[in-house]
Amino acid sequence: MLKTLQRIVQEVNSARTLDETLSIIVRRVRRAMKTDVCSVYLFSEERQRFILMDSMGLKKESIKQVSLDAGQGLVGYVAMREEPVNLDDATQHPNYVYLVETGEERFHSFLGVPIIHQRRVLGVIVVQQQEKRRFDEGEEAFLVTVSAQLAGLLAHSLATGSSVGSGYSTLHGSCFKGVSGTSGIAMGRAVVILPVANLDTVPDRVPDDPEAEILQFREALTSVRDDIHEVNRRLAQRLSEEERALFEAYQRMLDDSALGQEVINKIREGNWAQGALCQVVTRHARFFELSQDDYLKERATDIRDLGRRVLAYLQKVEQQDIEYPQKAILVSEEVTPAMLGEIPKNRLAGLVSVQGSSNSHVAILARAMGIPAVMGTVDLPLGLLNGQSLIVDGYQGVVFNNPSDELLIQYSQLMQAEQDLQKGLEDIAGLPCETLDGYSMPLLVNTGLAQDIAHSLNHGAQGVGLFRTEVPFMVSERFPSESEQQAVYREQLQAFYPQPVIMRTLDIGGDKALPYFPIDEANPFLGWRGVRVTLDHPEVFLVQVRAMLRASEGLDNLQIMLPMVSNIPEVTESIALIERAYHELCTEGLQLKRPEIGVMIEVPGAIYQVAQIARYVDFLSVGSNDLTQYLLAVDRNNPRVADLYSSFHPAVLNALNTIAQACSGQNCRLSLCGELAGDPRGAILLMAMGYQSLSMNAVNLPRVKSAIRQLKLSDAQQLLQRVLQLETSDQVLEQLSDMMDQLGLSGLLQPALALARKQIRR
Ligand code: PEP
Ligand code: MG
Repeated sequence: MLKTLQRIVQEVNSARTLDETLSIIVRRVRRAMKTDVCSVYLFSEERQRFILMDSMGLKKESIKQVSLDAGQGLVGYVAMREEPVNLDDATQHPNYVYLVETGEERFHSFLGVPIIHQRRVLGVIVVQQQEKRRFDEGEEAFLVTVSAQLAGLLAHSLATGSSVGSGYSTLHGSCFKGVSGTSGIAMGRAVVILPVANLDTVPDRVPDDPEAEILQFREALTSVRDDIHEVNRRLAQRLSEEERALFEAYQRMLDDSALGQEVINKIREGNWAQGALCQVVTRHARFFELSQDDYLKERATDIRDLGRRVLAYLQKVEQQDIEYPQKAILVSEEVTPAMLGEIPKNRLAGLVSVQGSSNSHVAILARAMGIPAVMGTVDLPLGLLNGQSLIVDGYQGVVFNNPSDELLIQYSQLMQAEQDLQKGLEDIAGLPCETLDGYSMPLLVNTGLAQDIAHSLNHGAQGVGLFRTEVPFMVSERFPSESEQQAVYREQLQAFYPQPVIMRTLDIGGDKALPYFPIDEANPFLGWRGVRVTLDHPEVFLVQVRAMLRASEGLDNLQIMLPMVSNIPEVTESIALIERAYHELCTEGLQLKRPEIGVMIEVPGAIYQVAQIARYVDFLSVGSNDLTQYLLAVDRNNPRVADLYSSFHPAVLNALNTIAQACSGQNCRLSLCGELAGDPRGAILLMAMGYQSLSMNAVNLPRVKSAIRQLKLSDAQQLLQRVLQLETSDQVLEQLSDMMDQLGLSGLLQPALALARKQIRR
């Protein structure tokens, strides 16, 4: 059974359209279960009905013609109950509705299983048989397994719009969930950059001029033939004739009479060259992949390789004539920094990436450029988005495609409100961050790139609370040398002088990879990360610390912070290395002030050792982003569980309060540098807990300052006492928004929040 299941999933995985997906499902399941009928009904949001999308066994004419109301018939009954319905004689069931077009009167036994993805019923898969019998437990379990496995693939297939032409539209007015890359709202037209030479992401498209497509295809073939000929020639010295036989085989496959001719036929039938190529290559490759013979299986790789080569040439031609609209939203499977560079800067309004997370390199660059970005939109219909109207809501991490006029108007108003708010806040840039009763709360910024410096200074930051040093490492092609690092660090220290700059030592691992130092682990967030890596590589750590110290000479505003600490030895060993570097440089004759050293509290275990850790260091800074993910066991970058990730969860708030209490009276400063600090509601609570400074993205600083300047510390403390008693994140957020209303501070909240929540289908 497992083998059959794997085969079905494998086949479905390589299907290029929704229709193809469904056709594979009904055929394969019917054959595997030896039933008379297998059908799939899908729920159309637009029509609010279940549509018979495909069937083996029911009359062909009924496919896509027959549909049922949401609660109607046995299909509606299965969907409503959200569980399998197994009947020996369907006609006797009170919910049975006879659909004359299907010819189903011949079939008595019925087994219907809901197809559920992320709590939503997408449809129902049904098997039927003539004889009156109940399907046995094993059959029922098989269909439930098939349905559960296929739900994700089907959801993707539906969302990626491969359903066009099938009468099942999901594209108009859709909303796609991801995670926030950069806060902010962008509205504009999608410019989809297809990943170079990726056979699985090329959409089908009707060509304007099929003959021109054929010409382009022939030229691409010739280029690939030349390339292969050249490679063959170059390798002639090193490989035997036998080993080079592959190149001959490649040349033959490219012949007009083989693959080439098939592609040309497909173009003539109405697909553009790239789509036709991918269709043909995928079909042949799948054929080989399904073979039991290892040699033939290998040929699938050859065909794909060849296909990719031809595709690369076809795409080269296409890349040359991309037209960027005035407000371009860059959309791609995996947006790369190079793509960002290609768009004229004044035209780039927003960014959407199917892959990646808020910590991806490109998200960090987008933040530095102030471009609203949404990452990890795994269900995005890339192939259909080019030129479409999009709203990128970087606050919520969602993208709206073809938004309604009403939504467009609402978002335009929000953008305007946002701009007005920012303008209004410019006036307070030079004023102190102080409550009405005179309590002062220093606000600092998080930085990573040189671009961050100007933003931060404009917003009146009182220093840098977190310089993510991995960012310059990520934009490099190898470990930056000591002097290269020194130059980057000097720029930061000088720009903020005499205010403090807290430099965090290299925090790689987790989802922050360096292309030249890959860490491949099954569980990277619990693996080799942060200080664990640098302690294992003292040569990397010492070079970095020395570069920091050298950069600080004469400025003396450097502080050093250690990420991902989970035990005291990591603290003492790191301090010993820092001291060693410091003494070595002093011996060399540098005039240095010993930097203050701090530790990030972002691992739950460290919460219970705050007082002990505090004895060894000058300051602690809570990394609430990681602390939230570890406390709640929710991956901070996984859109599937994004609803569960909340730093306003009572458990997180109580942990933060515990840290503050444990640190008080320890002669060790306490701050927080996660995203929570940049939310006015979070900042108010943290101030009340006793956090002595907060560090955040520069864009959030003015609104946090404004909130703090408009309330008393005593009000914040009372609020905190109430909040700490609450049971759920929603209750906390409700309490906080009441407070913001009462103080007249609601305008400071990120304006998209309320609106987008209503729009996002959960
Ligand atoms: C954090 O974890 O809260 C933090 C500030 O560090 P990073 O987001 O870089 O992991
Ligand atoms: Mg962290």
